[in-house]
Amino acid sequence: MTKAFPAGSGRLMFVVGTRPELIKVAPVVRHLKGLEGIRVTIVSTTQQADLMPAFHGLLDAEIDYQLGAMSAGQSINALLSRTLAALDPVIAEVSPALIVVQGDTTSALAGALAGQMRAVPVAHIEAGLRTGDPNSPFPEEMNRRLISQLASLHCAPTAQNRATLLAEGIAAERVLVTGNPVVASLHGVLEEPSACPKLKGLLKALEGLKPIVLTTHRRESFGATLDRNLQTLRGFVADNPDTALVVPVHPNPTVKAAIERVLSECERVFLIEPLDYAAFLGLLQAAWLIVSDSGGVQEEVASLGKPLLVLRGKTERPEAIEIGVAKMAGEWPGQLKELLDDRDALSRWIDSVEVVANPFGDLESPARIAAAFADFLSKQVDRASLVP
Ligand code: UDP
Repeated sequence: MTKAFPAGSGRLMFVVGTRPELIKVAPVVRHLKGLEGIRVTIVSTTQQADLMPAFHGLLDAEIDYQLGAMSAGQSINALLSRTLAALDPVIAEVSPALIVVQGDTTSALAGALAGQMRAVPVAHIEAGLRTGDPNSPFPEEMNRRLISQLASLHCAPTAQNRATLLAEGIAAERVLVTGNPVVASLHGVLEEPSACPKLKGLLKALEGLKPIVLTTHRRESFGATLDRNLQTLRGFVADNPDTALVVPVHPNPTVKAAIERVLSECERVFLIEPLDYAAFLGLLQAAWLIVSDSGGVQEEVASLGKPLLVLRGKTERPEAIEIGVAKMAGEWPGQLKELLDDRDALSRWIDSVEVVANPFGDLESPARIAAAFADFLSKQVDRASLVP
């Protein structure tokens, strides 16, 4: 049961900026809307201005403020400082009792820092993930660590994530194991299969082929690593006429240029625009193999029962590797090629992967997170009422 909150004291402000943040906060926002006395304000930094609109519909709520902090070619520092400057008057106007950030983006770091500097407590969804390498993923690993220092409430997806935070000195009563809301988001979307005509056309073109779906956008792989991975995949598809490669191309200009340079006009290679969530999940369901450096995709494959080669040197989501749905493919330069070249072992592993209990969360994760926020706010009210 939620307490009745005095005016303003039940006001939560979500700061989001990218597609994975929208996917993951959407079911939490839906749960909060059902709780008495809670009011939600959603602020979009528009860090991914081009990718986000296709995901607004997931929210089932209006975006109250669009900060327009992104501009082409700006540095991370420019994005961070513009976001901070734009957030400050919004926090003053909204006067939230709690600011909520999700994950590891520059928007999330800006939301947490802006909250701290306005003396507003911060809650962090997807807390406690670590690769252990401050530069991988860059800048996300460090963003996430800094957010842990700034937040007052930490929603850890797994018991391991909680243990990590406690080992770093975060007080135990501040860290809850809630699961990651991505699992509920995914299941909600899968209930209504995508009617996207682009997806339908693509699936038709892929009939009789084994589709490999590639997503790649990590900054730390720009240059030689990205080029080598793309060339490896081009070679594999050329040598294996029963396979095809589908790439929803990330709009980052560096990624786009590399993909177009290496993969344009290759037989059985489909370069497509990014898809909305339902269509992308439809594509993953049709995949024979997924190759990706995405964080969210590592969380999704267990629920989809699809094999994933993780194009990273290190992962902050080892649970996907431990349950056997994912394998690391970027720990050394030739690892992806080695894994693909042993086609018998690859096929055996692919055939063995099936839907398993998702280690990152379940359908109740959004409700647990919403309840944690309500509880935190009611304690704030109790504390405030002690002040004479
Ligand atoms: N995704 C999508 N459409 C696409 C590519 C990805 O909906 O064309 C989804 C994907 O299922 C996952 C999220 O976007 O939930 C991952 O986003 P991204 O890889 O950009 O970020 P990360 O998860 O690495 O932070």
